[in-house]
Amino acid sequence: MTTTTAAPATFQPLSALDQLRRRVAGPVLTPCDAGYDDEAAPFNQVVSHRPPIVVGAVCADDVVAAVRYAAKHRLSVGVQATGHGASFAMTDGVLISTKRMTDVTIDPQRGTARIGAGAKWLAVVQAAAPYGLAPLSGSTTDVGAVGYALCGGMGPLGRKFGFAADRVRAIEIVTGDGKLRTITADDDTDLFWGIRGGKGNLGIVTAIEVDLVFVPRLYGGAIFYDAADMPAVLHAWREWVETVPEEMTSSVALLRLPDIDVVPPPLRGRLTLHLRISYVGSAEDGMRLVAPLRAVADPIVDMVRDMPFTETDSIHLDPTDPSSAWHDGRLLSSFPAEAADALLAVAGPDVDVPLIFAEIRHMGGALSRPAAVPNAVAGRNAAFSLFVLGPMAPGLELAVPAAGSSVIDALAPWHTSGRLVNFLGTTDRGPAAVAAAYEPETAARLLALKDRFDPQGLFRHGHALATNSQK
Ligand SMILES: Cc1cc2nc3c(=O)[nH]c(=O)nc-3n(C[C@H](O)[C@H](O)[C@H](O)COP(=O)(O)OP(=O)(O)OC[C@H]3O[C@@H](n4cnc5c(N)ncnc54)[C@H](O)[C@@H]3O)c2cc1C
Repeated sequence: MTTTTAAPATFQPLSALDQLRRRVAGPVLTPCDAGYDDEAAPFNQVVSHRPPIVVGAVCADDVVAAVRYAAKHRLSVGVQATGHGASFAMTDGVLISTKRMTDVTIDPQRGTARIGAGAKWLAVVQAAAPYGLAPLSGSTTDVGAVGYALCGGMGPLGRKFGFAADRVRAIEIVTGDGKLRTITADDDTDLFWGIRGGKGNLGIVTAIEVDLVFVPRLYGGAIFYDAADMPAVLHAWREWVETVPEEMTSSVALLRLPDIDVVPPPLRGRLTLHLRISYVGSAEDGMRLVAPLRAVADPIVDMVRDMPFTETDSIHLDPTDPSSAWHDGRLLSSFPAEAADALLAVAGPDVDVPLIFAEIRHMGGALSRPAAVPNAVAGRNAAFSLFVLGPMAPGLELAVPAAGSSVIDALAPWHTSGRLVNFLGTTDRGPAAVAAAYEPETAARLLALKDRFDPQGLFRHGHALATNSQK
């Protein structure tokens, strides 16, 4: 007698998605799963990501599994740490959320930090501070360290120490073939060059190692001037920056803070000039350097002081709550009197525009020199950066881009060819716009690397390049 064993009635072959779930330690979410909305939500709510799959990676192996799954099923791959850089809605493919990969390890002997893909600068700043060390973080420590550094990264220590990407010494990355690689200057020189400045175009970075700098304290903070003093201070600042040493990094913003409770009364609902100061040196020297600007007009608020590096968020005072913002930027070859007047004409006290700020950052110094190990960072040829931001609140969807664009256009005579990739926005849609941020030779070299390491064009979300074979 023969017996047959029937498969249990409940047997179901695992779906591809279930197989992915088995391989990944973190959550794998679809739009009907609880937690999906939070996982996909960006800080900049100007877009809303709705991809069919979100992988909440907890480790490099999860990223490998997600990239291999996408490659096998011919899906695209996007990545999000904080969503500060969100510009275009992701509606297809696999979104890898790295916000659980927040490990930060400091090696005080070597002066380095190993930073997980989802860590914010705040975690690095806090971990490094006990040793008097600091990373090359930006205007706010709320931004993701990896996303920031991959695009260059220009912060309050910029003129003294250069771009954050310049101090990246090792990168762990999953490339388009689903391989986890550790890249240093000694391994794949070309790939190491391209990831530092090439944004997320060549793979999903799972961790970076960066050199820290010894900056326990600095002389810095914010000074706010009344709108009536704006022209005088703006002109004084543009003359003053020509005289300061590289230890001084500064910027100015024509700032319109809304009339809401969270804004302190002296600044609420009014136009001010926000001067940002970051001086790496003694408080005495810093005070002497800033004195001419304090003498131009009486500040409304003066918060410039000797402070620990951990308080650098008080220089730019960026918002920490998610909101919906339109922004655009350009680099400037110079900022002469005519440029300052042009800026005042479109964003100064004589006009009413629905912008939060139009800022000019002083560059030069180490930001203008090549990195010790060359990289793909764009924008070194600029003397200043221009950045404009406005709220995409209901009813302002047309007015804000129009006002912002008129600021960009007003300074067109001083635009340089390159852009800071970190400051690309919703207006920079499509691979050609992204390629235009770089010098032509840099763009061509990045495209060749993309052909090698992302031949399927998996990494095509956000500000992505596309090689000829991917178009
Ligand atoms: C309030 C605010 C202040 C800012 N200040 C500065 C500043 O002072 N200086 C400056 O240079 N920039 C600044 N930026 C820009 C910011 O650095 C970029 O938007 C940066 O890309 C944000 O990285 P994120 O990971 O936080 O954002 P996300 O939106 O999560 O990521 C943005 C992009 O970075 C890339 N990326 C992120 N993680 C990875 C990864 N693991 N692997 C591969 N690619 C990845 C991807 O292309 C992704 O689309 C600021 C932005 C905001 C909103």
